[in-house]
Amino acid sequence: ALYITDECINCDVCEPECPNGAISAGEEIYVIDPNLCTECVGHYDEPQCQQVCPVECIPHDPNHKESKDDLMAKYKIITAAM
Ligand code: SF4
Ligand code: SF4
Repeated sequence: ALYITDECINCDVCEPECPNGAISAGEEIYVIDPNLCTECVGHYDEPQCQQVCPVECIPHDPNHKESKDDLMAKYKIITAAM
């Protein structure tokens, strides 16, 4: 999963781009739900939020390291629940 750092300027550009609905406005900055973030695996070749963020504050989350296979498995679970 990816996460949003405190450099976030709350511009709201990333939230509508997420195919998994993983991004939402938190108390101070935008946040990513690691249970829903597939790093866009299953939908796109590149993380869409990273593409649009004007301050590049969305790195990989060191606490949620996942392989492509892990992310694809998560994608399948999420889409099965939709
Ligand atoms: Fe959503 Fe993709 Fe960003 Fe993860 S990487 S939060 S799935 S847009
Ligand atoms: Fe924050 Fe970047 Fe999302 Fe804008 S695009 S709300 S700066 S994480």
